[in-house]
Amino acid sequence: MATLAVVVVVGYVVGRWARRVNRRRRGSRWYREVYLQSPHWRSFRRGWWARHGNVPCSVCGFHGGPLDLHHVTYKNLWHERDEDVRPVCRRDHDLLEERKGGGR
Ligand SMILES: [Zn+2]
Repeated sequence: MATLAVVVVVGYVVGRWARRVNRRRRGSRWYREVYLQSPHWRSFRRGWWARHGNVPCSVCGFHGGPLDLHHVTYKNLWHERDEDVRPVCRRDHDLLEERKGGGR
């Protein structure tokens, strides 16, 4: 009886863990917490702004505030080309991410 309980508990814990890992790999949490903190991304981003200068938000034209680089595609992560990203303001970035992923 005790053995059965252990099996059930272990199965439950492993199942939860597997779901969490899976979500992290696909979802944006890994992207935000790992990719965007990586030396590669930091230097790409710095280089991008150096190459393109002081450009406005590509969605609304907002200028003069902090802009993010939005990934148009994630297929070239770790070796983006300049056209794989576009500058967007915080507000439009949130809207774009909402539309792209989530599905909620
Ligand atoms: Zn904008």
